[in-house]
Amino acid sequence: MAEPTMEKIVSLCKRRGFIYPGSEIYGGLSGTWDYGPLGVELKNNIKNIWWKLFVQERDDMYGVDAAILMNPKVWEASGHVDGFSDPLGNARFNLLFETNVGAAEDAVKSYLRPETAGGIFVNFKNVVDSFHPRLPFGIAQVGKAFRNEIAPRDFLFRVRELEQMEIEYFIRPDEWEKHFEEWRQAIYRYVEAVGIDRKKVHELEVPLEERAHYSKRTIDFEFDWPFGRKELYGLAYRTDFDLGAHSTQSSVDLSYLDEERKERLIPHVVEPSFGVDRTILALLLSAYSEDEMGDEPRIFLRFNKVVAPIKIAVFPLLKNKPQLVEKARDVYALVKKAVPQTMWDDNGNIGKRYRRQDEIGTPQCITIDFQTLEDDTVTLRDRDTGQQERVAIQALTARIGGTP
Ligand code: ATP
Repeated sequence: MAEPTMEKIVSLCKRRGFIYPGSEIYGGLSGTWDYGPLGVELKNNIKNIWWKLFVQERDDMYGVDAAILMNPKVWEASGHVDGFSDPLGNARFNLLFETNVGAAEDAVKSYLRPETAGGIFVNFKNVVDSFHPRLPFGIAQVGKAFRNEIAPRDFLFRVRELEQMEIEYFIRPDEWEKHFEEWRQAIYRYVEAVGIDRKKVHELEVPLEERAHYSKRTIDFEFDWPFGRKELYGLAYRTDFDLGAHSTQSSVDLSYLDEERKERLIPHVVEPSFGVDRTILALLLSAYSEDEMGDEPRIFLRFNKVVAPIKIAVFPLLKNKPQLVEKARDVYALVKKAVPQTMWDDNGNIGKRYRRQDEIGTPQCITIDFQTLEDDTVTLRDRDTGQQERVAIQALTARIGGTP
């Protein structure tokens, strides 16, 4: 099957209410996109899968949600104020977004955070003091980050306002290789959980001269985008660079007492970093499919059930038959209670509705027809095969399952 083009993805996203150009009625703002009703569901699903996998299902992880505006010293210590730049002509252009915090006379120049990691490092001591975690342990954060990219492009791939899902995993320095390997595997677990095409993900061992100054080893997880093989996620061994730099800059001791080994140390970190927007783009590209059904070309998104923004759609066969509509409303209420991401649809004819649901990746559709009124069964249709079967309403919730 032909690979989807970016034009097809961008157009489907706009047409069906996933993603719109930012500030569109004013001509847009380069490097910004707005998530619409289906986009926000999809985005929440992929963030929830990440949070569940890496925070809630583990005993060694702590979540934080730090402020986007931080004391500018954070970004001096991390090296972003001096070093976070791309070449532009003969000069270097710093990618930090500057802003003023406070009223004119006593305003402080600060920055919108360029990565969520900063908010993790400054809360290291807080988390240690509140929870006394044993090494190794991690702190996770999901949130917005801002980069004044010189050339935003390729839809969600390079944007100026992005969202990241990051973990700083604090370890003993002599165990870094083991943890690096564990996180390398964990990245694939996430790739598979959301349904990104595994065959399109490749590792690039970043050579010394291209690594960030603090990193002793970095792997870029690249994806085969229509515009080339480029970074999807990153995994870096950042050593004790950040905690060390923040200790020095803040004059607050960020060392950790390792009770087991009876030694004080600045923990080292392994950092897996995931872009939310690039996840969504990789997922759309992985799920996009075209085939023929009933002698007509069809576009459908092969989202897995956990990721799909709408899990189930419920329709009355005809919308001008009150008996059918009433029955369909009852079934809809029942299904929606079990699976909140359920949609009611009575627009256009049944064929059009299937098309629309296929195009937004809804795994299952339920149709209430005249037979339903006689024997309390409905049609359950599968998105990928188009196959339909009759299921008793009584058995429906068990059959479709609760919220995954
Ligand atoms: P690139 O080399 O593509 O600019 P990077 O190496 O600067 O990326 P990191 O600093 O490692 O990226 O950021 C971690 C993750 O955040 C990336 O793997 C990516 O998923 C995401 N990301 C970074 N910059 C952007 C951006 N401008 N737009 C969308 N996602 C981004």
